[in-house]
Amino acid sequence: MTDYLIKNGFVFDPVQGINGDKVDVAIKDGKIVDAGDVTNPTVIDATGMTVMAAAVDIHAHVAGPKVNVGRNFRPEDKLFNGKAGSGIKRMEGGFSVPTVLRTAYLYARMGFGFSMEAAMPPLYARHTHEEIRDTPIIDQGALPVFGNNWFVLEYLKENEIENTAAYIAWLLNQTKGFGVKCVNPGGTESWGWGMNCETVDDVVPYFDVTPRQIVSGLIAANEYLGLPHCMHVHGNSLGEPGNYEITLDTLKIAEGYKPQNEFGRDVVLHNTHLQFHCYGGESYASKSFESKSKEVIDYINSVDNISYDLGVVTLDETTTMTADGPFEHHLSHMNNLKWANTDVELETGSGIVPFIYNPKTFIAGAQWAVGLECGLFIKDPMRAYITTDAPNAGPLSRYPRVYKWLMSAQAREDMLNNTLKYGDSIRERCYIGEIDREISLYELAMMTRAGPAKTLGLSHMFGSLKVGLEGDVAVYPYNPETDTDDPEKIEYAFGNAAYLIKGGRMIVKEGEIVDMGNKRTFWVNAKVNDNPMVERDISEKFRRYYTVTQNNYTVEGHHFVPNPYVIEVDATK
Ligand SMILES: [Zn+2]
Repeated sequence: MTDYLIKNGFVFDPVQGINGDKVDVAIKDGKIVDAGDVTNPTVIDATGMTVMAAAVDIHAHVAGPKVNVGRNFRPEDKLFNGKAGSGIKRMEGGFSVPTVLRTAYLYARMGFGFSMEAAMPPLYARHTHEEIRDTPIIDQGALPVFGNNWFVLEYLKENEIENTAAYIAWLLNQTKGFGVKCVNPGGTESWGWGMNCETVDDVVPYFDVTPRQIVSGLIAANEYLGLPHCMHVHGNSLGEPGNYEITLDTLKIAEGYKPQNEFGRDVVLHNTHLQFHCYGGESYASKSFESKSKEVIDYINSVDNISYDLGVVTLDETTTMTADGPFEHHLSHMNNLKWANTDVELETGSGIVPFIYNPKTFIAGAQWAVGLECGLFIKDPMRAYITTDAPNAGPLSRYPRVYKWLMSAQAREDMLNNTLKYGDSIRERCYIGEIDREISLYELAMMTRAGPAKTLGLSHMFGSLKVGLEGDVAVYPYNPETDTDDPEKIEYAFGNAAYLIKGGRMIVKEGEIVDMGNKRTFWVNAKVNDNPMVERDISEKFRRYYTVTQNNYTVEGHHFVPNPYVIEVDATK
């Protein structure tokens, strides 16, 4: 394997406290080593460029059945953006729901090394893994959804944490999943009865359990197992005006819980796409709707065991997709565009609706503001991660544009004055106009690398350039001394990495993708004590309710996960 030495770049690595210093970065046998430990290395001259560990995406929807339904029912998403294959690249296409190949190429061009597929329906885990397998270059994992699962609802109604944990361990093993995702806890199941959960104490019909019990029980079971990642929640009432109160109620459930794990993770709850959960007012009428991001982030700043990602609205035409079935139904009634919906037996549901975030409307502009505020109010950027909940608030390809808005007050002013039709009302009803903070490159490295790696329990591999970590390094054509004059340079540079080295292989060279890498699928194998009751429950439910047998359920073998990276967890003690 080639040794590499990246010389003369401006290095940003918050884990080591390196803030723009010119430090040489060396890679040997796929790992970061001391600069003196490489022999005959290939030298990359990074003079005038920014060097960081490869980025880590904690939440995106890029593989699996709902992504594929999005691709199928939106041919217009592929119009005029197909690109013929060239070099070793195959054809790529799609804007908000790109093909798996375009997903990989986009991540590589943006300097990413790892991405977490944010919602895997267990019953369709095989399909999810097939798409992950076909997405080259980047390492990936997937989070199975648990918040409306019949087993979980039954166990947590009786607060049976050990049984819930045993079931989680079984499911992670069966689906080759990475952690515990919870979408609209209780609400998606209630929707099967035409209802939803609008407070954390609403009772799910038949199961007689509340979102509060589901969230606290899943946190407890997650920590009982000591999983690398914490419980990852998409709360109730996503997108509803006035929902900041239920968001605060949800976050407060984490009070008193402490992280129990051997992976250096500090938090017990990750609230995803917080932007969609920080709304005030009673309706979408512009005189009523307002931002409550400050109220929510003030609370998060006051505790130390919660992280979140932003979910910034990028003002594009996109495709929304979520296991929050009731929300998508609601959305399709609002915009009258097409709607796809699935009930995943016993486990979850999902919906898909195209959406146009039109900058000429007040609401889309206000949502744009709220997402950025979520990034700008945080005191500790190690707990706030940059996402667009791709593709829900915006396509994956827009990450660099979000960086620009966070890093440049001038770019935000330009949006408020020139692009958004209701800039003045947005200044009045949101906080964005009062904030002059500009995220620094050092903070950007926290919010896109060091932070998400830590919260995923992967800081021993990713997120820093410390000796011993994976040889995952991105070099961007951005000079922090001279390129600060024009915010457009930020967007260009972070969308067009000059170099990406992944696992010690050069993937992007002088801006071109030259290698498909050694893609791995990460999953967590949690060992628990034998639990005959849970085993009996599983086989009984398969016999009585599932339309497939257990044999057709398990994700196994070379076909689905050809290059696994298994993280072992022992919860038997
Ligand atoms: Zn999501």
